[in-house]
Amino acid sequence: MKIDEAREVRTTCPYCGVGCGVLAKVAADGEITVRGDPDHPANFGRLCSKGSALAETIDLDGRLLYPEIHGRRTGWDEALDLVASTFSQTIAEHGPDAVAFYVSGQLLTEDYYVANKLMKGFIGSANIDTNSRLCMASSVAGHRRAFGSDTVPGSYEDLELADLIVLVGSNLGWCHPVLYQRIAAAREKRPEMKVVLIDPRRTMTADIADMHLAIAADGDVALFTGLLAYLGKNDALDRAYIAAHTTGFEGAIAASSLDLAGIAAATGLGEDELVRFYSLFAATAKTVTVYSQGVNQSSSGTDKVNAIINCHLATGRIGKPGTGPFSVTGQPNAMGGREVGGLANMLAAHMEIENPEHRGRVQRFWSAPAIAEKPGLKAVEMFQAVADGRIRALWIMATNPVDSMPDADAVEAAIKACPFVVVSDVLAMTDTVRHAHVRLPAAAWGEKDGSVTNSERRISRQRAFLPVPGEARADWWIIAEVAKRMGIAEAFSYASPAAIFAEHAALSAFENDGARDFDIGAYSGVDAKTYEELAPFQWPAPASPSSSRGGSARALSEAKQAALGGVGGASPTPPRLSRPAAQSSLADPPLKGEGIRFFANGGYYTPDRKARFIAIHPTAHIRTSPDYPLILNTGRIRDHWHTMTRTGKSQRLSQHMAEPFAEIHPLDAQHFAIGDANIVRVSTVHGEVLVRALVTARQRPGSVFVPMHWTDQFSARARVDALVAPITDAISGQPASKNIAARVERFAAAAFGFAVLAERPGLIDADYWSLARCAAGWRLELALEAGRDWPVFAASLFGADAQGETLAYHDVAGGHYRFARFAGSRLAGALYLAPKPVAVSRSWAVEQLSADHADRRGRLAIVAGRPGGNTVDRGAVVCSCFGVGANQIAEAVRGGCTSVEAIGATLHAGTNCGSCRAEIRTIIEARRLQAAE
Ligand code: SF4
Repeated sequence: MKIDEAREVRTTCPYCGVGCGVLAKVAADGEITVRGDPDHPANFGRLCSKGSALAETIDLDGRLLYPEIHGRRTGWDEALDLVASTFSQTIAEHGPDAVAFYVSGQLLTEDYYVANKLMKGFIGSANIDTNSRLCMASSVAGHRRAFGSDTVPGSYEDLELADLIVLVGSNLGWCHPVLYQRIAAAREKRPEMKVVLIDPRRTMTADIADMHLAIAADGDVALFTGLLAYLGKNDALDRAYIAAHTTGFEGAIAASSLDLAGIAAATGLGEDELVRFYSLFAATAKTVTVYSQGVNQSSSGTDKVNAIINCHLATGRIGKPGTGPFSVTGQPNAMGGREVGGLANMLAAHMEIENPEHRGRVQRFWSAPAIAEKPGLKAVEMFQAVADGRIRALWIMATNPVDSMPDADAVEAAIKACPFVVVSDVLAMTDTVRHAHVRLPAAAWGEKDGSVTNSERRISRQRAFLPVPGEARADWWIIAEVAKRMGIAEAFSYASPAAIFAEHAALSAFENDGARDFDIGAYSGVDAKTYEELAPFQWPAPASPSSSRGGSARALSEAKQAALGGVGGASPTPPRLSRPAAQSSLADPPLKGEGIRFFANGGYYTPDRKARFIAIHPTAHIRTSPDYPLILNTGRIRDHWHTMTRTGKSQRLSQHMAEPFAEIHPLDAQHFAIGDANIVRVSTVHGEVLVRALVTARQRPGSVFVPMHWTDQFSARARVDALVAPITDAISGQPASKNIAARVERFAAAAFGFAVLAERPGLIDADYWSLARCAAGWRLELALEAGRDWPVFAASLFGADAQGETLAYHDVAGGHYRFARFAGSRLAGALYLAPKPVAVSRSWAVEQLSADHADRRGRLAIVAGRPGGNTVDRGAVVCSCFGVGANQIAEAVRGGCTSVEAIGATLHAGTNCGSCRAEIRTIIEARRLQAAE
């Protein structure tokens, strides 16, 4: 691709399901800059810390650039021939269900479409599932049960138009930060807007909450069935909506049988808290309930979704501005994957695999020789089938199941034992790539072209602004080439992603006539130029994007209009090919109620076009035992994404939380004799991790939280999904990653250590270690068991024969060891070991990697681990954009800064992406309380 250096390229962020627009630019000197797209309707110019740091993650370090077979570089022809012939042979010998694709919400829609078409239409199996199974499959199942379709009814602007936002199992402040910022900005303008946070942890999202309900794990079904009963008893129902547009209400309300005391027992909440929440919900017509992984990742995830939807159907709060149940997805293209049928139990274009009419339609459209007759294996089942030999050839695309699947050690063992494993990835080494027989180099973000769909059903283009390096190729091209070599050339002869998108759009409209929600048929004739210029649009696409460009213009059917329009519902907005006018201010997105919404006037996608209430009976999910008395909860942190394959490259993002940790309530810490910053072993019947203890009252007593991001590439033993049981929701197949019986013990470390290194170390022979990028090198936290020879350990870390000056200090009696090595006047590395967690300033030590050390006194200061007298220890980084630490913020508070704005004016912290504003407010509040004591 020819790069126009003067031009900013309009693309989308590759991280979360908010789907923010990004403007990327490559300067003449090669410098890449990114900024938020002020015209994109998801973010209006905002980006969070991860999006702001995207330019730091684009380098070729660690990239897989050439195809490999058994670790040997080869050409595309040999690699593709081997993949095609092995898959063909396996199918011939063992049948189509002996092969599988495990794909990803990181794939673009066009990649996803081609993979799904090959597996379901031409191989004739539905054994294609996606890591989105781990993210939002319960929402899909809940939508389908209630609406007859996987429809997200609302738009982001509903979050700004609502008078009450209920956040359930959603740490929006860290996991969907731009939506959090949009709510925070709206709340500042309309202080009457209320926010309720329902989460076992007091996360940073509590910063904007008027009420935090620290619910017990899996208490959500009891909470929302109780709410339905409360709405019924207190005459807060929309009986006209129930009568006109729903069925099953009586059964649902009869199933809500717990009294207030029973709900309190099931949720761990006080009866007064329940009544306050219930009465607020009942009294507020404009209510949006936002939910994500805390709801979905549960063995009762689908019931939770339907319990929430029941309450919105019962009050008619759906499809109208400022209302609705709202599932927000974790991944950038989880929604696109749903649209093309990337889940094993779906067909393309939101059609159902169990429905013979749908199967026949898709088969006709594809002119496919076969079509999968039954649902394929969902993710957990798929890897179990790999383990027991039913699946003999597996192709993993753009994902890292050795780290992210539940029972991850068993998944790794299954992959290792599988006769044939292909991995398409951008990196040469991940915990999954290391086990592949064939490695296929895929194009990365910034190099690939296609489209993604965000959580509000908005389709946006991801565009290339960099040349594709080495021999990397787009995923759709790789899949199509394998298909051709399997003898299926005609159906996979795509010239470009535009051609795939046009086919995908045509299928959405094929024999549709309003019977299916997903319809972007207006784009079925899209040509390359129009596709290139495509502006973000929300589906369904109600009319031709441009009648002059030769697309297949279609009017919306009456049935579709019924689903979209109606009392209080917004009229469909024609998609725009020209960009909307730039917004004047980040805090002022236009609130015109123009978002396309479904179901204000019924028109559901069930046979009778009515929504179904689901009768749900709360059930207990007690998994703890005397041996495993705690509940393990897993999740994300602010500045890392999934398995850190991208964010782990950014030194800025790696400073916010540089180690894996376990949040433990002070009462549990006391009970288990764990001190803050101890190393702890968290274990379940499936495995164990070693992580740093973070003792905090934000955690609910009786539970422990461990983040999901760390892998063997960044830590010794912190793959938390190795601890997660392969228990799934019976309907959605989504694993229960937030309620696992666990125990926590202090790890008997004889030494704690900290090191900085200019080069990434090779073998790190420590019991506990965690490695993170920093400016000019790497920082390493570590712990050693008793009996280790510290100088020998230092030699193994830095290399015994390295050139340069080495200074070391060993206080055997006091138990301190310090070591520094210099290469010329530069610091090659320094190591500090002590019997207690090392107190050396991390920010100071990191800065020494960039400093000149010609001066002898400076070298001695490094060995001593002491900064000069005037050097301030910044403390843990809070603001990633400006590198501002907690100690600096605390010092500014002591100096008179009593608001986030004042901190911003003094230190700049919180003035760019805004992702740290909640933490700044927490520090200000903590200082205020300290001063008051
Ligand atoms: S909220 Fe952040 S991570 Fe999510 S899409 Fe926007 S910039 Fe990317």
